[in-house]
Amino acid sequence: MSRYAEPMARLIEELKKLPGVGAKSAQRYAFHLLRSSDEDAAALAEAVRGLKASLRLCSICNNVTDIDPCAYCASPSRNQRLVCVVEEPTNIDTVERARGSQGSFQGVYHVLHGTLSPLHGVGPDQLRTGSLIARVERGEVDEVILAMSPTLEGEATADWLATALRSFSVRITRIATGVPAGSDIEYADEVTMARALEGRRDM
Ligand SMILES: [Zn+2]
Repeated sequence: MSRYAEPMARLIEELKKLPGVGAKSAQRYAFHLLRSSDEDAAALAEAVRGLKASLRLCSICNNVTDIDPCAYCASPSRNQRLVCVVEEPTNIDTVERARGSQGSFQGVYHVLHGTLSPLHGVGPDQLRTGSLIARVERGEVDEVILAMSPTLEGEATADWLATALRSFSVRITRIATGVPAGSDIEYADEVTMARALEGRRDM
């Protein structure tokens, strides 16, 4: 039997599911919430509920969005035929912050939601590759920039996609290794990311 009243034990159990939150932290957060005002507790509960209720994936690029298509895919000022492929939605922010001699990135995105990882049982079917290949197949794309991280999984994913797209008339490029090999592009600064984009090479 838990040494906490049921509602407290339940909250601790839920908090423990968050990344980096162990039993000790979960208890601390739960007791903090118990002491906080009704308004603060309600605001947190509502923010969590609203996250799931109002956010979805863009039907074109799989970005996390509250409007569909997302702001990038719906933008008339962005080049819809230049598609930057990234692993996770958070990587879009890294590319958006990139400022190089040619300015900022003016294309759109495609989010895979992961990388190929045979060790963890992640194959092409587990990634959102099909809708990207379909976009290219319909002739909607001039260039696909493969902006996966220069890690083992990122490179394997880039190679797999380049092979899958090769039979279509589309330019396929890979970001330069301005991003240090083995590192996650999420941690690239704006200059490094801009160099990686501008120095991209054909695959
Ligand atoms: Zn989109």
